[in-house]
Amino acid sequence: MKSFTKSFTQQESVPEAGIDAAIEVMRSGRLHRYNTLPEELSETDYLELEFAEYMGVPYCLACSSGGYALHIAMRAAGISSGDKVLCNAFTLAPVPGAIHNSGAIPILVDAAEDYCIDLDDLEAKAASSGARYLMLSHMRGHIVDMDRIMAICDRHQLFLIEDCAHTMGASWKGKKSGTFGDIACFSTQTYKHINSGEGGFLISPHDDVMARAIIYSGSYMLFDRHQAAPAKPAFDHIRYETPNYSGRMDNLRAAILRPQLKDIDNQCRRWNKRYQILENILKQCEYINIPKRPDAEQFVASSIQFSLPSFSRKKIISVVEECQKRGVMVKWFGDDEPRDYTSRYDSWRYIEQMPNLPKTERVLSILLDMRIPLTFSEEDCLLIGEIIVEVVQG
Ligand SMILES: *Cc1c(COP(=O)(O)O)cnc(C)c1O
Repeated sequence: MKSFTKSFTQQESVPEAGIDAAIEVMRSGRLHRYNTLPEELSETDYLELEFAEYMGVPYCLACSSGGYALHIAMRAAGISSGDKVLCNAFTLAPVPGAIHNSGAIPILVDAAEDYCIDLDDLEAKAASSGARYLMLSHMRGHIVDMDRIMAICDRHQLFLIEDCAHTMGASWKGKKSGTFGDIACFSTQTYKHINSGEGGFLISPHDDVMARAIIYSGSYMLFDRHQAAPAKPAFDHIRYETPNYSGRMDNLRAAILRPQLKDIDNQCRRWNKRYQILENILKQCEYINIPKRPDAEQFVASSIQFSLPSFSRKKIISVVEECQKRGVMVKWFGDDEPRDYTSRYDSWRYIEQMPNLPKTERVLSILLDMRIPLTFSEEDCLLIGEIIVEVVQG
């Protein structure tokens, strides 16, 4: 019987250039982003400039985590207590958590068969709720039809915050994911596309939003030291009106991230090669459904999702267990009990007036998920695919 022995949580090591740069920062003792010599830019300054350049946007703020970036994105958007924010019901816990942290009320929108936000439900709830904000998760790297999203945002005057935790390096019709919205947030947590343990980015083309985000992030009155930032006049009033919610990036993490960012497009290609191998094997199995991805979506697949439409809950639990016995870690998003990184929306019990979302429940009840760390070779992916198919076929 085939089995697999590598770890699904083992990422690649930090590039040597990042290790050297991190040691240099430690030798200097100047770990704080504003602790620079005269005329010196910090690693964090360079990282922000380089990420802005990579994204093709004017501004970037590096901060302490992706969830933190989402929280100050909401604050910088002007969201306050009691405001309604539309968001995917199928997302990760930091998203409703960030909405809760800003005092706003999440309006959960159904998941569609392709794992993206359900655009008909979004349109209906945008109209019926009167919400003025949409927090859109490109969950597990699946990019919804962005042309339709922008049309819905336009029709309902929605302020769009993109959660790009799984789409760093991805595009829709050649336009980078994260450049559609009024704000976009990224994560550099270990299991995302670049790894500093913890970390995140916030980008926005709006001067006032960016100025607020920078003050929120904990810039003291050193905001004018930011390089990938609007000019000083943008801070004139904002500096007095915006509280400091310290959540800065530090130079050690920035040093680790810079060489990874340089290499990201290559890493994305390596993920997609592995994904393609897995997808090709899995889709040959008659019980496995993998929704066809639109040509417009230039995705980065650091994980794979597939459905078992004809399987009962009991049968899915046994697939997960059998795979695990053979060393293959698949997760089930339909589980009653939140485990690891999975959780069904109804486990976020702090949300008042939890809606009933039978469609989302149906999608999640048959949805399996697996990480594809780059420490797996292409042969490893072949073997993993074969094991899953064998297990599913019983
Ligand atoms: C990881 C993740 C985030 C942000 O997470 P942090 O751990 O706070 O960096 C946000 N949204 C989604 C969908 C994620 O997977």
